[in-house]
Amino acid sequence: MKLKVLASGSKGNCYILETLAGTLILECGISWKEILLGLNYDISRVIGCLVSHEHKDHSRAIEDVMNAGIDVWTSQGTIEALGIKHYRLKPIKDKDRLLMGDMTILPFEVQHDAKEPLGFLIRNRPTGENLLFITDSYYSKYKFKDLKYIMVECNYIKETLDENIENGYIDQAMKPRLLQSHFSLENVKEFLKTNDLSQCREIVLLHLSDRNSDSEQMMREIREVTGITPKVATRGLEVELNLYPY
Ligand SMILES: [Zn+2]
Ligand SMILES: [Zn+2]
Repeated sequence: MKLKVLASGSKGNCYILETLAGTLILECGISWKEILLGLNYDISRVIGCLVSHEHKDHSRAIEDVMNAGIDVWTSQGTIEALGIKHYRLKPIKDKDRLLMGDMTILPFEVQHDAKEPLGFLIRNRPTGENLLFITDSYYSKYKFKDLKYIMVECNYIKETLDENIENGYIDQAMKPRLLQSHFSLENVKEFLKTNDLSQCREIVLLHLSDRNSDSEQMMREIREVTGITPKVATRGLEVELNLYPY
């Protein structure tokens, strides 16, 4: 598998996952023009698009994606919140497994201020590798095992947020929402500690806040608790996710 980051953060999110059987679009929160460019103008290999929730930074191009002939899987709550109808919309829900090309997708509930937000556990059947995708969630009530690759939001560092509020850079009123909607570095560390990472080879940190994050500190602290040096999802990042011999 190969992962390409087209965008990550509050301005837009879109990731492309390529396998031998096809290409999966994870989130479509940028313009269709940018998605097309990221696909090298080749939509023939695209097997579908998964959308985690209705916020524009994850769903901006959803109608263009469907109008281009690509099926979109997302929750019924997200569909209702977006107020859209389209025959290419495929409602999915928590723990309803679905097959897409050579991948098996297990959607699961996440904790975010959206109607029915989902995370996705993606299994590449030919290699048996599991990739966890969890964005826009302030914690996870689920534990996972046998994960090879983890894509997880790491939005802010609590201390940095508090400093920014103290210095007046961030409005105090923003804080309760952030605490109950996005993953802090502290919560990501706790989450990673509670999961079995013995098979894990890559961690990619997503959706970093412009003001309340520090990628160096995040990478260092995640490495300290997991032994894995994470990558930070920035536009243009490509990660080769290969089957590792053990
Ligand atoms: Zn977001
Ligand atoms: Zn969101």
